[in-house]
Amino acid sequence: MVPSGPEHPRDPMSAKRAQPVSTRQPDNIWPERLRYFEARQDALVKTIRELVEIESPSDNKPAADRMGGFLAGMFEAIGGRARLHHAQNFGDNLQISFSGRGKLKPVLLLGHFDTVYPLGTLATMPCRVADGRLYGPGVLDMKSGIALMLYVIEALQAWHKGLPRPVTVFLVSDEEVGSSSSRKITESLARESAAVLVLEPAAGMRGAVKTARKGVGEYKLIVRGVAAHAGLDPGKGHSAIVELARQIAALTHLNDLERGISVNAGVIRGGTRTNVIAAEATAEIDVRIKLAKQAAILDRQLRSLKPFDKHCRLTIEGGVNRMPMERNAGVAALYKKAVTVAKQIGWKLEEAAVGGGSDGNFTAGLGVPTLDGLGAVGSGAHAPHEHIVVSELPRRALLLVGLIESI
Ligand SMILES: [Zn+2]
Repeated sequence: MVPSGPEHPRDPMSAKRAQPVSTRQPDNIWPERLRYFEARQDALVKTIRELVEIESPSDNKPAADRMGGFLAGMFEAIGGRARLHHAQNFGDNLQISFSGRGKLKPVLLLGHFDTVYPLGTLATMPCRVADGRLYGPGVLDMKSGIALMLYVIEALQAWHKGLPRPVTVFLVSDEEVGSSSSRKITESLARESAAVLVLEPAAGMRGAVKTARKGVGEYKLIVRGVAAHAGLDPGKGHSAIVELARQIAALTHLNDLERGISVNAGVIRGGTRTNVIAAEATAEIDVRIKLAKQAAILDRQLRSLKPFDKHCRLTIEGGVNRMPMERNAGVAALYKKAVTVAKQIGWKLEEAAVGGGSDGNFTAGLGVPTLDGLGAVGSGAHAPHEHIVVSELPRRALLLVGLIESI
């Protein structure tokens, strides 16, 4: 008779534990996988160039739709099912679904194909390679991120004979202008997904991934004063411009950089002519917050602004659009997985908290584990010298591969 142990002797796990453990280390497949992407680096650059050379400003629907249609074709060519979500004022948002093995929830790869550059920018800012860098409008933010998705899905299909799990790609057309047409779709796809991987550019030249992003709000302060002739009746006017100037000075006191709160009146307008005491003036205000709970407090402070001049009236419009992406447990767990993958090729992957928002803020705000900044490494986003570092592409691809496999 076989003596039974104190713990469930028929537990299959305990039987497994009893097996002799092999001391042989499994071969490290990662260096070989890195070489796979290094061998495809030139092809990847060519694909990125193709995407950059189709201009796609957020505010030009026909141009953005051209980009979306082209991308739909590329993802369909590697086996995805494309679906265009109609948008009235922006390009149609593009969803591509890839089936995969197992009953796992899909991983959502999130990005945008709109850029901040108006049509015709290529004439003065052509796509070119110099000193190992690829330059062009939107190359970093974030057409190279889209190309990475394509190559990574293709590689996973080849290595696993099909995807090891379902993957959904969602590419929006209006991220640079607040994502009003795509936000609801992004959120509903995120809710169905195990995790969200955002292919926005990495933070800094060392390629850190983004584990926290500030929340972003936009407000408009409108001052209505009393107009009067500046020469004949100066005493009868109540200048909206003077009132606005005093309000802007007061607004600077809402800044609390230590707590991650910043308030910036970035655009002001007001008045009609020099000889008229201004009846109206407005300021457009950008606010950034680090924690979700700061949104309501700051909103209350802005809405309770009082006029210095009793004859002026204040109206405040707007609100916080993107809540912060806080570094919660789900985010930290994804970062840990990414670090483990990077370690396989001797790379010490860093993390960063950044002030800019992305659609990752929406998905993290829902509590869906989100990791951002998985795209290309480079600098100059939204600027004439926007570029990526070509030699960083293979290991960015590797990172995405490892995450999709391990989530
Ligand atoms: Zn972006």
